[in-house]
Amino acid sequence: MKHFEYFSTLLPRLVGEKEGAIAPEIVPSAAFGYTSAQEAEAIFAGEADKPLYARMGNPTGGKLERVLAKMESGAGAVVASSGMGAIAMVLAAFCERGDRVLCIGGFFGGTYALMNETMPRFGVEGVFRDVDDFEGIEEALQEGVKLVLTESVGNPNLKLPDIRRIAALCDDFETLFVVDNTLTPLIVQPLKQGADLVVYSTTKIISGHSAALGGAVVFRALKEGKEKLQSNRYAALHGLLEKGRGALGAILKKRAMRDLGMSANAFASFLTLLGVETLPLRTKRVNESVEKIAAMLHDAKVKVRHPSLEAHEHHLRYEALYPDGCGPLLTIECDTKERAFRFLNGVKLLIQTANVGDNRTLGLHMASTIYRDFEEIDKKILGITDGLVRISIGLESPVVLAEEMIEAWQALR
Ligand SMILES: *Cc1c(COP(=O)(O)O)cnc(C)c1O
Repeated sequence: MKHFEYFSTLLPRLVGEKEGAIAPEIVPSAAFGYTSAQEAEAIFAGEADKPLYARMGNPTGGKLERVLAKMESGAGAVVASSGMGAIAMVLAAFCERGDRVLCIGGFFGGTYALMNETMPRFGVEGVFRDVDDFEGIEEALQEGVKLVLTESVGNPNLKLPDIRRIAALCDDFETLFVVDNTLTPLIVQPLKQGADLVVYSTTKIISGHSAALGGAVVFRALKEGKEKLQSNRYAALHGLLEKGRGALGAILKKRAMRDLGMSANAFASFLTLLGVETLPLRTKRVNESVEKIAAMLHDAKVKVRHPSLEAHEHHLRYEALYPDGCGPLLTIECDTKERAFRFLNGVKLLIQTANVGDNRTLGLHMASTIYRDFEEIDKKILGITDGLVRISIGLESPVVLAEEMIEAWQALR
């Protein structure tokens, strides 16, 4: 737990200022004046570090970008209007017609629909493989993909990828590796494990308060030696590699945000910065609570699924690679929709909503909500059954939560 202490010191101090206004400044201006024609030219050339126009970023978002880059040990970050905006930014910046994107594991509904329905309309195809299908992963890489995308923990299937192993394969095949780390900020550090880009829905845990929609892409520095972006696969980007260390940021802004406008607004970035201050405390609390609740539910014979339990197929991977937990989610298999509804309606503390990673405990029946329009085959791939309930644990007492859930479960009989 040493790094929670590290982050508990680092993050509040990064967010606050030592002089003048301590809390971050909200700069809502859409446009910014330049002191001279020369300065305007320098700003547009990327040589002067001053705001250009809010679609390309504003000072409050810029502050959040610096904090997130530091938190992730990245070279920089680009904040976005939402998590989907961040993922769309990555796809638009790096992909073109005819490209394939290798999607490993189960995916958040929006990302799955984006890769399965929307991107194909623009000629970019998603190729789906299970987290353990290393043969299939290698085969797809061999055939050639532009990006590899995975989630640090499957939502809601809770499968855990071996990020280092996938990253090593991506390096072998000179392919960019993107990890959606929305559910595991601080406890998983994808850039340190070999990923090239990390995407976040900051709406969830980083903000934590269900008060600000937002997203972010954090990127690594361009390498001075062997750099996979120099391969022919990324020929379209070679002009922007001249930007040096922060080239990935320039690629994201110039090839996606400038023209598609998924830019963050200053007030959302301000609220997100407030969330960042307490992120280490909240993360530690929630991850400890999830394990405790999963164990209590398991002991009470509730059909609970979580990698901390021995019955989970990735229990060993959890113990080896996820020492601080894998985020706020656990699922409960109620077998039928009718029982799932009765269970959800029976847990008084639970707020029924489509969000996750809130300070309050949230729950939702999967098949009748987020996945209602999905084909049977897609639901099977994603592990969505008729009785599946997803729970996102908040800051409340884990014992009280577990007791309430056990009571609601026992009332089903
Ligand atoms: C919610 C979520 C997203 C999308 O984020 P929004 O901020 O809602 O657009 C992407 N990935 C994961 C894992 C999520 O949970």
